[in-house]
Amino acid sequence: MIVRKQKDFDNFKCIADKCPKSCCIGWQIMIDEDSLKRYKETKGDFRKRLEEGVDYKESAFVQRNTRCSMLKENGLCDLQSTLGEGNLCNTCRLYPRHTEEFLDLREYSLSLSCPEVVRMILSKDYEFGWDESENEENDDPDEFEDFDLLIFDALEYAREKMIEIASDRSLSLETRMQKIALLAYKLQALYDEGDVLEMGDAVSEPVSLDEDPDEIAAGILGGYEYCLKSLDVLIDMESLEESWTDSIKETKAYYKKHPEVFNTRDASKDLDFKLEKILKSLLFTYFCGAIYDGQIYARAMIAVQSVRFIEMIYKATGADLGSTIYLYSREVEHSDDNVNRMISFFESEL
Ligand code: SF4
Repeated sequence: MIVRKQKDFDNFKCIADKCPKSCCIGWQIMIDEDSLKRYKETKGDFRKRLEEGVDYKESAFVQRNTRCSMLKENGLCDLQSTLGEGNLCNTCRLYPRHTEEFLDLREYSLSLSCPEVVRMILSKDYEFGWDESENEENDDPDEFEDFDLLIFDALEYAREKMIEIASDRSLSLETRMQKIALLAYKLQALYDEGDVLEMGDAVSEPVSLDEDPDEIAAGILGGYEYCLKSLDVLIDMESLEESWTDSIKETKAYYKKHPEVFNTRDASKDLDFKLEKILKSLLFTYFCGAIYDGQIYARAMIAVQSVRFIEMIYKATGADLGSTIYLYSREVEHSDDNVNRMISFFESEL
């Protein structure tokens, strides 16, 4: 099996009680079957604590005031400190690690919803990338019965090209994102027409932004009206915290009043460099998943438009960039319903 891991994946360390936005607060934490069985069979002093803290019917930890009931006042996990790390459920053991599975390939990335991951990625010396290795493990090929290798090769090749475009610092980040979105749009058209063999050729061609804007999806150029309208998608999403929706409304009101701020998005090299890493992280995580749903344009747009949103929210609210990114990811990425709303919005442009 081929394994791709985001740079520093194995070096990630949870900062536990020092975390400004613990993953044990806000989310309902689901428990896998094996862990549930282990908790049921636990004997001794901790048994009563588990009986109170685990909702066996819902397969989830009980929440008290939106906090996991296993979380102690000092911000540490009672279950982990009493039973040891090996007894954490899969969700707690794996988060913020994320896996994508493609035939004999596994891709591992770190979720932007974790403040410590965001701090690591935004740090000056961190360049987004991944390492590749091979191991002996193999999967049941039946699991991927309908997997189309030809399309997957084209998607992988396209993602490589997108990462290359994203790295071209001679261009503003916005121009790079427009090129990435346009490439995805062209690939989507070929895919929809069934011209799979031509997808590879389309990736090889240089991407030029000379297209007639009326002939392409509005999200590619991501103008003022488009970005303002697309903020409504965020406002209508289910949210973990009301203050999040308020900050999106504040962002919309700010840009309505100050279109000049949007239109003069001048390049701050430092901001572009940081957001470039977020763009690459989202492309790495989302793009190749199009092999399963064919949503090539929408998946590239999740990366592109998320970066635009993050920049808008950051500038309008004056919050710091790191917290804007992890709050965005917590609210948008960790709800299938919210991700699907975004996908439907981008699909409606086609
Ligand atoms: S969000 Fe990240 S750093 Fe914070 S408690 Fe969870 S894993 Fe640890």
